[in-house]
Amino acid sequence: MPTPRPRSAIRRHPERALAVPDAAAEILDQALVAHVGTALDGQPFVIPFTFLYRDGCLYLHGSTASRTLKALAAGAAACIEVTLVDALIASKSAETHSVNYRSVVCFGRGRLVEDEQRRRAILTELIGRYFPGRTAGEHYQPIEDHEMKPTLVVEVPIEELSAKGRFGGPLGPFDADESIPGDARIVPVGPEAVG
Ligand SMILES: Cc1cc2nc3c(=O)[nH]c(=O)nc-3n(C[C@H](O)[C@H](O)[C@H](O)COP(=O)(O)OP(=O)(O)OC[C@H]3O[C@@H](n4cnc5c(N)ncnc54)[C@H](O)[C@@H]3O)c2cc1C
Repeated sequence: MPTPRPRSAIRRHPERALAVPDAAAEILDQALVAHVGTALDGQPFVIPFTFLYRDGCLYLHGSTASRTLKALAAGAAACIEVTLVDALIASKSAETHSVNYRSVVCFGRGRLVEDEQRRRAILTELIGRYFPGRTAGEHYQPIEDHEMKPTLVVEVPIEELSAKGRFGGPLGPFDADESIPGDARIVPVGPEAVG
């Protein structure tokens, strides 16, 4: 029997694979939204979440009523994706319009974080990640018990992950040919695109 390919093996454009774990960690540190995929009773759901990445683990939090978080707390398998869109690529050919991106796909199983001190530390770190420099006790009240009670904190230790990216300019067959009419260029998006 042939050895099955790992779930995280990049099949299309394998030359666009980025280094794991280093480039993957950088993307997971920068991305603001994780798309969390779970299969509940055979139905796939993909739900956006804020998240924290630390030492090979993704941390999510939210209401104790959250269906996704309850499933993860009970050990559900997850596929979690994050993407940074760096630029749009305009080409002189329809099929070579593209996107410069960096993205990561992670596989793992959820687990409830139960220890109260860890739960608080994770939530505090999560706020610090989104609001660098914001300090409990100085910029906001330290997390109170009544805020902890309705909050689930789950961790997803990453079993496998892949990172992929596209960089550079248009690659269409006419893009470097000035005698061919049309427009080929990099269109920046994100904070650097705001003029
Ligand atoms: C950028 C961003 C960050 C978020 N961060 C968090 C977080 O850290 N913690 C947290 O608990 N929640 C977060 N949310 C809200 C989260 O996406 C879910 O709406 C919420 O957690 C309820 O999840 P659930 O699994 O109970 O969904 P359910 O309410 O059970 O979902 C039922 C159905 O509602 C629809 N639905 C659910 N969520 C969305 C959505 N966001 N957009 C469109 N349709 C939706 C889908 O069709 C889904 O199948 C975030 C949302 C966004 C956009």
